Amino acid sequence: MADVDATRGTAPAPPDALRAAGSAGGPGAFDDHHPPSGELVSDCVHCGFCLTTCPTYVLWGEEMDSPRGRIHLIAQGLEGEPLTESMVTHFDRCLGCMSCVTACPSGVRYDRLIEDTRAQVERRHPRTARERALRAAIFAVFPYPRRLRLVRGPLWAYQKSGLQKLISRSGLLERLAPTLATLDSLAPRLRGVPRPPRRVAARGTRRAVVGMLTGCVQSAFFPEVNSATVRILAAEGCDVLIPAGQGCCGALSVHNGRRAEAERFARRLIDTFERTGMDYFVVNAAGCGSSLKEYGELLADDPAYAARAAAFAAKVRDLAELLDELGPVAERHPLPITVAYHDACHLGHAQGIRTQPRALLRGIPGLELREIAEAEICCGSAGVWNVLNPEPAAELGDRKAAAVLDTGAAVLVTANPGCLMQVAAAVRRRGGEIALAHTAQVLDASIRNLGAATLTGR
Ligand code: SF4
Ligand code: SF4
Repeated sequence: MADVDATRGTAPAPPDALRAAGSAGGPGAFDDHHPPSGELVSDCVHCGFCLTTCPTYVLWGEEMDSPRGRIHLIAQGLEGEPLTESMVTHFDRCLGCMSCVTACPSGVRYDRLIEDTRAQVERRHPRTARERALRAAIFAVFPYPRRLRLVRGPLWAYQKSGLQKLISRSGLLERLAPTLATLDSLAPRLRGVPRPPRRVAARGTRRAVVGMLTGCVQSAFFPEVNSATVRILAAEGCDVLIPAGQGCCGALSVHNGRRAEAERFARRLIDTFERTGMDYFVVNAAGCGSSLKEYGELLADDPAYAARAAAFAAKVRDLAELLDELGPVAERHPLPITVAYHDACHLGHAQGIRTQPRALLRGIPGLELREIAEAEICCGSAGVWNVLNPEPAAELGDRKAAAVLDTGAAVLVTANPGCLMQVAAAVRRRGGEIALAHTAQVLDASIRNLGAATLTGR
């Protein structure tokens, strides 16, 4: 790990003029359409407290691959420096994990800065043909649940036939197509689970009506997590509404600078849910939840949607957050099991939800909860960052897998499909063994009295 004391305070201060340049934008790297805010840049006092929690700084020890360094580059852009290849590389390397936002004592809104910067990069920076092709392929598939579900059949056959193991052992894919090898290593073991009905009634007295996001990766590759979520919500007294055709929430797009695409997805989701009469909109994927809570900002320029988006965002709750708010009514049966809880970055850092999932897990009789060392450091998944940056992502994954295995827990629990896939792949690479589960699956197993073997497979 880099020595933070040696680097604190080394980045040059942006001039006070930045505070004035602010959101008006200016010449140089950024145009006038939502440039990063000079005022937010000026909030950074260059203390360096964020450095040791930044995964890219931890990996490379380079100032420009730290939050403070990136803020300095944004300041240069606002002062009139052009958007160079080197600047874009440092922005691209940011995982958007928001660990720096948690660590910053000055409350710097790095989340806003990097989101606006990425949108500028995507619009204004010419990428190579290879980069364009890879990004086009990713965004033609990942934000479309139906297209992702089409991948399920061939993937299932590939896994069942033993071809996956054969190819993995040969190392052929890694040599010929590293991106495909990364996707191959991340693919979860598929299970056939029937889709939940469009409306599920509360058990017992109804306490709330909730709309539910089924998600893209979640619905295609982890349908068992959605089924468990529906059962828990019903058991806790919620009517659950799952309208068809809800599509993507836009998280992947907004986190990668594709703002116009994210806006389209957001409008569609609002249209689908806003007349359902829901009290809450529940999400079981951390990355989606953090973006949904920012719909008000995303659609602030759209007079037809600005107020509706803000009203929608106010109803968004992560599953653990909602269950904590409602309080338990369903009986918890014992689960004599040791679990390690992994804070997904977009749950812990972006939404500040850390105590609620732990409280839910601790509420299960017999369950022992263990903490993971370096919990604040990202596992390297970060949406599609691991596909775009396979080598450093694997390094971060290996580091996380080692910390997870060190807990000696039987099950790793987290609330994001990306983290589950990333840590599972890293554990497999190390030859380790640990079962993986979403928080919803653990609670569901307890409420239905299924026993620990349902989670561990043993
Ligand atoms: S979002 Fe994460 S990777 Fe990016 S600068 Fe902050 S800590 Fe580093
Ligand atoms: S972002 Fe915050 S923690 Fe990091 S250098 Fe700036 S003020 Fe310090």
